[in-house]
Amino acid sequence: MKTIQLDGSQGEGGGQILRTALSLSMITGQPFAIERIRAGRKRPGLLRQHLTAVQAAAEICGAEVQGASLGSTSLRFVPGRIRGGDYRFAIGTAGSCTLVLQTLLPALCFADAPSSLQISGGTHNPDAPPADFLMRSWLPLVRRMGVEMDIELLRHGFYPAGGGAVRASVAPVKAWQPLHLNSRGDLRCLRAIGVVAGLPAEIAKREMQRAASQLGPLDESLRVLPANEGPGNVLMIELDYPEVTELFCCCGERGLPAEKVADRAAHEARLFRDSEAVVGEHLADQLLLPMALAGGGSFTTHLASSHLKTNAEVIGRFLPVAVELIEEGKKFLVKVGG
Ligand code: ATP
Repeated sequence: MKTIQLDGSQGEGGGQILRTALSLSMITGQPFAIERIRAGRKRPGLLRQHLTAVQAAAEICGAEVQGASLGSTSLRFVPGRIRGGDYRFAIGTAGSCTLVLQTLLPALCFADAPSSLQISGGTHNPDAPPADFLMRSWLPLVRRMGVEMDIELLRHGFYPAGGGAVRASVAPVKAWQPLHLNSRGDLRCLRAIGVVAGLPAEIAKREMQRAASQLGPLDESLRVLPANEGPGNVLMIELDYPEVTELFCCCGERGLPAEKVADRAAHEARLFRDSEAVVGEHLADQLLLPMALAGGGSFTTHLASSHLKTNAEVIGRFLPVAVELIEEGKKFLVKVGG
């Protein structure tokens, strides 16, 4: 089969180009070669998270791989047959477990048997989906596309210590269902989830109070973790609608006041709530791949990110599925295939 040539510096120029290529190469059986991996990032090339995704994908489908080493900026991947089974992978740093899961789970939907998958590393990282987002926002929509999948957070892991773990189980999909999200319905619940590990609970309480001052009355949920899971802090704001649950977050950082953490998460939550879009910026780019596999889908989003556009382009290199982005006043309609 012809090798698909990818440029890792295109568009967003991040790790997602590689992860989407890995998923779709495994699923379609098409080999790919990628140059300039993560050229758009401060530290280009494969970091531990990306390398784990490559090695795990290779193990699951018996791929032949060249260039799989830390810092590598080019890679060639020739996939074999996807095998279901019980897999465990360790990132070894606080690299994001959820991004590795999202690379492997779509492929395991096409395996010959059910699978379980455990990944250790970071579970609540800046610039990656927190485990709660995967479980509360992404998973319910993927299930509606016909996928039998569960995701469980076993232990929180924060930057820089890592040490978290997530477990997933997934069965081969019998019948994919296209998913069309036309409207989100009325807000049912607004919730702030303040998480601290090895830090005073006061930090999370201040963050939740500040979020309430920005967003109005909300349910507060305080998660105080054992000190050995930290140090770490994250504030998550969950908006629950009949058709979708969105979750916006900000991770605490040394030197960043709790109020600033809350302001950042609340700002994103407010932008989404004040829009009429069905999904937010991050869910938008993460729905494209499952929708393409499901044979179609559509949604509206208030922000058309470069992650969304770049992911659409990479999907189009592997599958005969077009992604259309249509501006509709203050939101965008995204149509996948069909
Ligand atoms: P890099 O280190 O190259 O930036 P990466 O491997 O972290 O890359 P990206 O290409 O930047 O990967 O992709 C990050 C993914 O994480 C995207 O799908 C993005 O939507 C998602 N993401 C980032 N922040 C959040 C968040 N707060 N909530 C949910 N998803 C998020």
